[in-house]
Amino acid sequence: TCTIHDMFDRRCEADGEKVLFELKERPNVSYAATRATVRRLASVLTELGVGPGDRVAAQVKKSPEAVMLYLACLRAGAVFLPLNTGYTGAEIDYFLGDAEPRLFVCTPETLDAHLPRGSAAMAVESLGTVGDGTLMARAAGATEQAQAVARAADDPAAILYTSGTTGRSKGAILSHGNLASNAVALNETWRFSENDRLIHALPIFHTHGLFVACNMALASGATLIFLTRFDPDEIIDEMADATVLMGVPTFYTRLLASPRLDPLATAAMRLFVSGSAPLQEQTHARFAERTGHTILERYGMTETCMIASNPYDGERRVGAVGFPLPEVEVRVTDLETGDVVPGGETGAIEVRGPNVFQGYWRMPEKTADEFRDDGFFITGDLGRMDADGYLHIVGRNKDLVITGGYNVYPKEIETMIDALPEVAESAVVGLPHPDFGEGVTAIVVPKDGAVIDKACVLDALSGTLARYKQPKTVMVVDALPRNVMGKVQKNELRGRFADLYA
Ligand code: ATP
Ligand code: MG
Repeated sequence: TCTIHDMFDRRCEADGEKVLFELKERPNVSYAATRATVRRLASVLTELGVGPGDRVAAQVKKSPEAVMLYLACLRAGAVFLPLNTGYTGAEIDYFLGDAEPRLFVCTPETLDAHLPRGSAAMAVESLGTVGDGTLMARAAGATEQAQAVARAADDPAAILYTSGTTGRSKGAILSHGNLASNAVALNETWRFSENDRLIHALPIFHTHGLFVACNMALASGATLIFLTRFDPDEIIDEMADATVLMGVPTFYTRLLASPRLDPLATAAMRLFVSGSAPLQEQTHARFAERTGHTILERYGMTETCMIASNPYDGERRVGAVGFPLPEVEVRVTDLETGDVVPGGETGAIEVRGPNVFQGYWRMPEKTADEFRDDGFFITGDLGRMDADGYLHIVGRNKDLVITGGYNVYPKEIETMIDALPEVAESAVVGLPHPDFGEGVTAIVVPKDGAVIDKACVLDALSGTLARYKQPKTVMVVDALPRNVMGKVQKNELRGRFADLYA
């Protein structure tokens, strides 16, 4: 089996002096220097009692050392388990209780608070952003681990918790084969090479920042321009000497807000990728107008790594997420019967391939429920395949509105509302309704300085939408609630407006 760690090792052999992490406030770190630290950290893990298959949980800030800890886990055969840096007290207790890691790594600032959580079964160490913390102090005195622990394709490499958009986060067990196959498929699809310089401004506790961005670079020998936050001006500066940006849709709306975004500023760039949440059609169009670059939208999830991507060559279709990646199969099935639906019809998106996870951590029933007998995983997303084979995501199964017995797909209505001149963005949700079961409700954000007339919104839709799909009510809000990945939190909206029709 060839793991991400093996691919990284090969890149170190090929060109050790190559910069892996380009940093703003610290000297850059080469592939060879990274490898030396990874090997020392792997020895430290063994010293701390972490054996093959043991979990290493890390709630640390973004830094090269955090990625080195991930690689050290892969090398030592341990299972890396990154935690959202936003989690606090009770949430941490839940995740540590659920995952039972052999080692918990926190920030130097929180070490004192977390030490009491330690026990004979779980060591607690710290890792900072400038090579500080107890773990690096141990690594300084450690010898380099001579040999990587051999791993099979099915052996777990990481447990990644889902974003918790639809409910409590679930731990997805990802194998070495899942991670390696996806990096290979993406590098081929997006033409990655050692000549690439990737602007990395995403967090590294989600699949996007870690398993898409970092793994692709580690496997191809590219350089990561490693930024700790997203600042539009800084990103535009970096574009002068970079080749690729991977972002969530909010990155692109924020870049568009800068007057500095133009063809000259983006001239060196070869690729802009968007994912994690739906890219609005107007963002896609405006970015192309302003820069001449067509954003490449792709689709994936924690449980499956990346599933589909618009083509590198060929049409990057607005509103679509493109074609299944190499070796990945996608089908769309009827929500009730489970049969594959005819082309063009909406249904449940199911996926099978070397990218699909091993199951939810300690949730055997949930895992069994989400898989078909023939190995397809039911993503929980709804979509359709158009006549040219492009996959379109219509929303999440849990966001489907059922009103008076009819299915309403929010995306269709959101797309129409977003196209209105006064509207910045919108979310359509179903709220409890005494007559209809659920009432279609549009929650709308005006553009800066614009005023939204609710009646006008309803008028604009009435000519083009079947009556049952038309919103019963339009609510105007300043902003939609989003998480760090830019995902709209519809649960929160449904809670906020729960009594609207009561
Ligand atoms: P949870 O499963 O805990 O409710 P989550 O599904 O948001 O949270 P992630 O695994 O981080 O957690 O996100 C995967 C989801 O993100 C997909 O199932 C899909 O709904 C959405 N998504 C990803 N890329 C796109 C895209 N390009 N367009 C639309 N939706 C996308
Ligand atoms: Mg999910």
